Amino acid sequence: MSVKTPVYLDNNSTTQLDPSVLEYMMPYFLAYYGNPASKSHKYGWIAEESVSLARNKIANFIGCSPKEIFFTSGATESNNLALRGIAEAYLKKGNHIISSPTEHKSVIDTLDYLSKSGFEINYLNVDEYGIVDPNELKKSIKENTILVSIMYTNNETGNFQPVKQISEICSEKNVLFHTDSTQAIGKIPFKVNDTGADLISISSHKFYGPKGIGALFIRNKNPKIRVIPQITGGGHEGGLRSGTLNVPAIVGFGKACEISEANIGDENLRLKNFTNKMLNSFRDAKIGLTLNSNPKNRLPNTLNISFDNIDSAAFMSEAKGIAVSSGSACTSASLEPSYVLTASGKTTESARSSVRFSLGRFTTEEETDFAIEVVIKSIKKLSKENEI
Ligand code: PMP
Repeated sequence: MSVKTPVYLDNNSTTQLDPSVLEYMMPYFLAYYGNPASKSHKYGWIAEESVSLARNKIANFIGCSPKEIFFTSGATESNNLALRGIAEAYLKKGNHIISSPTEHKSVIDTLDYLSKSGFEINYLNVDEYGIVDPNELKKSIKENTILVSIMYTNNETGNFQPVKQISEICSEKNVLFHTDSTQAIGKIPFKVNDTGADLISISSHKFYGPKGIGALFIRNKNPKIRVIPQITGGGHEGGLRSGTLNVPAIVGFGKACEISEANIGDENLRLKNFTNKMLNSFRDAKIGLTLNSNPKNRLPNTLNISFDNIDSAAFMSEAKGIAVSSGSACTSASLEPSYVLTASGKTTESARSSVRFSLGRFTTEEETDFAIEVVIKSIKKLSKENEI
């Protein structure tokens, strides 16, 4: 079997740029390099038209108006803009925000900041798959609640939150709803109205677009949402996010949406087959494991597994033929167990043994078979060493 190693199985972290996206972006570096804010010449007009076309493609892809798309540097900034921008705008109404403990750090750390600034933050309980209970949410909403922020699907486990139910509760209680949909958009069919959310964070590099570009969807009708800008300056993006637009990245982001739209169905079937094959092969090889991804409802490309009594750091240094993520944050010298899994009631030991396999558009069946072989060999070797 000849595959290029290490085989890349870390697509939830980032993806390879699609070659057609790169090709589409190239002229915007060397020929069409104008600033879309330049109104007095052709260079500016071409750039402005290209940005407008990309905005239309992105809006079309997620089913909203182009006026509801605001470009940012990625989902970290989109989450910051949504949380800080709403907190500031609705302070007169209240200071209570509800979220979940399995959110991405760009949400958790921003909420920590808001908490230090006088906001009251409530984290809902989650079940073994990190899923919130809509009934608990309903009971937690108070007079002073202004915002609920719950992600669409988790980056470590690929598990889905009951977003539609959450948005229905929020709209019934007149509370705004933000959903970090970074891991969903581009990976599964996604339309704004199916979520019912008021604010949605998007990132281009999670679905074969360039890094450093993303967007925040902000509903502008029923209701129109107010957000206070967090970056001020030249008044770009309707005054909500100043700074010269990154035109090559924006056009690449638009192209990535177009390609995903055309391929998403086939891609999902293929990746679901590959991840199922991996899981079944591990089980057939009688490897002790716990599936942390929800067997009934997970992202088709994602498998999060804790291998019994195998530290994920030891696994990764043994399984050099594959590039995966441990699901743990590397802080200082030690590998911290995944906070997503410990919040979901897993033991520290189990969380420390977790490995995330995230496949993507460019993963082949040959690579999947190679990865299966590497994993089984590595786990068997490490288990034997543990017995000695
Ligand atoms: N939210 C989630 C769920 C993510 O997976 C990520 C990326 N790891 C982010 C936010 C941050 O995205 P970006 O890299 O575009 O800042």
